[in-house]
Amino acid sequence: MSKPGNVVLLIEDEAKIRRFLRAGFEIHGFSVLEAESAAAGLKTATFNPPDLIILDLALPDMHGVEVLERLRSWSNVPVIILSVTSNEDEKVRLLQAGADDYVVKPFGIAELLARGEAALRRYFRRATENSVIVAGPLSIELASRTVSLNQTKIRLTRKEYRLLHILATHVGLVVTHDQLLAEIWSGNQRDNIQYLRTLVRKLRQKIETDPNTPRLLVTEPGVGYRLHSRLETGSYG
Ligand code: CA
Repeated sequence: MSKPGNVVLLIEDEAKIRRFLRAGFEIHGFSVLEAESAAAGLKTATFNPPDLIILDLALPDMHGVEVLERLRSWSNVPVIILSVTSNEDEKVRLLQAGADDYVVKPFGIAELLARGEAALRRYFRRATENSVIVAGPLSIELASRTVSLNQTKIRLTRKEYRLLHILATHVGLVVTHDQLLAEIWSGNQRDNIQYLRTLVRKLRQKIETDPNTPRLLVTEPGVGYRLHSRLETGSYG
């Protein structure tokens, strides 16, 4: 979906990483802007708005979370975080502050591009109300609430559909436990993560070839769930 002309802004103080990112994004048709500090990044985002931002958390002049919060006060541009920590609380905090996704250093450029393109797709889909979402063998027609697996319609309960719908509108991106609980349940039920785990297990039984080794609806430990846009070969548990 990275049509030629998409502009990515890299906010990262390490020149070596910026060079690595620039090369990867340019090969995939992006135009690349660079900023080596938070201040420079916010200035560029304001005066030369990009389609996608890659934001390093550890910047010399400001923490990435603050950069993100400032950006989100006026912009919905997709933001992917570069993080050195695999700390789950921090990931959740970033997603709640409006990050679209994160990758943990060291990362592969393919992973980062996949996350970036998923965030762009989501951003453009919101704008165009695209009514069919495809994720591997799954196809979800939003208007008719029809779900097909390998071209065969499958029946989901209302809550199963709600869960799939939320994940599908973020296809390729992580969605937090809190976000899922809040959107599927009401009242004090929304604090019960066990409801969510049970619902995920039921949905997996309908959409996964092997529900015990999910390849479509995967767990992001301590953070939430992710619906892959295509079948993953690795097991994520
Ligand atoms: Ca850094």
